[in-house]
Amino acid sequence: MAYVYDDQNVFAKILRGEIPNRTVLETEHSLAFHDIAPQAPVHVLVVPKGHYVCYDHFALEASDAEILDFTRAVGKICKMLGVQADAAGDGCRLIANAGVHGVQEVPHLHVHILGGRMLGRMLA
Ligand code: 5GP
Repeated sequence: MAYVYDDQNVFAKILRGEIPNRTVLETEHSLAFHDIAPQAPVHVLVVPKGHYVCYDHFALEASDAEILDFTRAVGKICKMLGVQADAAGDGCRLIANAGVHGVQEVPHLHVHILGGRMLGRMLA
């Protein structure tokens, strides 16, 4: 079954400039902005500019350039915001909800970067 992308989702509107956002980083293929309802002191969403519904869609169908750009953008933001998991940062959590069971609200791939405080243990 093919993935079906709804271009009326809120992140598509942000990417088209129809809804404002607080941008953290923009690259050739990715945009990162602060979550409107932050769950932690650092709560940034990283989205690819391409039309990908979820992580598996992106991983299977995006170009190598898009995947590299997106992956590096996540790393750069962690460093920029001081939540990288090296000796200088305290780490963070990356979450990519997908589909119905993943309780994904916005059907455009986004990785949440959550940090800035000790997070609860969470596997489900
Ligand atoms: P999901 O449940 O799909 O993984 O997460 C969607 C996230 O998008 C939520 O954390 C929610 O607060 C955020 N969000 C929803 N609408 C907007 C918006 O208009 N602007 C921003 N910056 N974040 C949004």
